[in-house]
Amino acid sequence: MKDVERSSPENRGEAEADKLARYAPGAFALILFGPPGSGKGTQAKLLVSDLGFAHISTGDILREHIAAEDAIGRQVMAMMKNGQLVPDELVNQMVEERIGRDDCMNGFILDGFPRTLGQAENLGWLLAARGIGHLVVHLAVDYNKLVGRLTARRQCPQCGTLYNLLSRPPVIPGRCDIEGALLEVRTDDQEMVIRKRLEAYDAQTRPLIEYFRADGSLHEVEASDAPPEVIVRQVRQLIEEFRGQ
Ligand code: AMP
Repeated sequence: MKDVERSSPENRGEAEADKLARYAPGAFALILFGPPGSGKGTQAKLLVSDLGFAHISTGDILREHIAAEDAIGRQVMAMMKNGQLVPDELVNQMVEERIGRDDCMNGFILDGFPRTLGQAENLGWLLAARGIGHLVVHLAVDYNKLVGRLTARRQCPQCGTLYNLLSRPPVIPGRCDIEGALLEVRTDDQEMVIRKRLEAYDAQTRPLIEYFRADGSLHEVEASDAPPEVIVRQVRQLIEEFRGQ
């Protein structure tokens, strides 16, 4: 094909349509929704392999940019340290690029996205353009439990495995069970910052519960007390019901 033909608006439209049509039949977005510390990351890690889905954590992607000390990392570092949300436009673009990758074609788990109405609307357009359905699982946890959990949280800097000194301590204190690396406290898991993150959740993210309730995609799972292995069974059940619809 000549370059002129290839770049014509019609052909660009076809190329775009080809790209959007690559998703497997039945692919969908599982949105794990809930406040910081509600167990979204833990649930995603338990679900990801048997679903064959990609795990997309916007927080992890942003932390990778910070670690790489690139332009995005420099832009978001202070906001993240202070427990504030980063701009919608930035995360929307990140997610749009990420869900087009090959590992998302069977479906994907969104962990920590969307967090604002603007993000939810943008996601709605992205999914509609790709013909992909969505299931929202809201992990509901008491406020005081969240603060306790987040202050006890530790993460392996190498493999990302999450530990909790109260409910899931490592076998050797302070060391990752898999990598043996020294576990770290995320800078935004300091108590003052935790409170700010929870405030941001209340002001900007909690209202999405009504948004997803209105479109019929919201499902609640009480996640204050049960261990992750019990909660994941309920999530799997919701997935089965969603697939059977
Ligand atoms: P998380 O690991 O999901 O708790 O996210 C950690 C931090 O990354 C948040 O406190 C925000 O500063 C930023 N972040 C992650 N996801 C988003 C998002 N969807 N929108 C805005 N900021 C985000």
